[in-house]
Amino acid sequence: MKTTKPTKHRKPDPELIRQLFERFEQDKPEPKTELNYSNAFTLVTAVALSAQATDVSVNKATGPLFAIADNPADMLSVGEDRLMKMISSIGLYRNKAKNVIAMCRILIDQYGGQVPMNREALLSLPGVGNKTASVVLNEMDIEPAIAVDTHVYRVSHRLGLVDASANTPDKVEAELMQVIPKHWLTRAHHWLILHGRYVCVARKPKCNICIVRDLCPKIGVDFMPLV
Ligand code: SF4
Repeated sequence: MKTTKPTKHRKPDPELIRQLFERFEQDKPEPKTELNYSNAFTLVTAVALSAQATDVSVNKATGPLFAIADNPADMLSVGEDRLMKMISSIGLYRNKAKNVIAMCRILIDQYGGQVPMNREALLSLPGVGNKTASVVLNEMDIEPAIAVDTHVYRVSHRLGLVDASANTPDKVEAELMQVIPKHWLTRAHHWLILHGRYVCVARKPKCNICIVRDLCPKIGVDFMPLV
């Protein structure tokens, strides 16, 4: 595989960005999260549970869980011990169960059982960090946001969407928000995640079947550090 070292202070070409996202849009006009949810509460819960876990493992646990508890009151009835057992296949399940129960108490006490749809309030909830808040606000169509996970980070660098100096998720997010045209922002998060999950995978990217292979500079392929 041909490798290219990252160059310094590389600026993304707006024309390249346009072509890339047109391609993603043609391929998947309405990309969706692969986490199963039915409302804002199950969304924020599923996203919080998905930290350092796969969507598949989260869906497996939340299927039976959300069938009996798709709102804060019912989740409190489930209780921490039973919740822990129900999500025990997910990494960090003990802390996550504690946080979900604590979040439910706050939602009931302070927000009438509803999930507040603004970043500041979301960030005040136990277990909800910047990435979870971004995913929720973006998914609910409240505020375009790009939560940068390992897939988004890797694909953004390989495609040259961000400068080589963007070496943290926050820096990558800030650059992506600047360079991606507004009308694609909400869907860009999904496109980049799905592309990284299924095509531009970490160790052996599937360039031969990639829909943007003729546009991609393949920056850092083979030695991009994972976050
Ligand atoms: S061409 Fe290869 S490196 Fe570039 S986005 Fe596609 S899979 Fe990733």
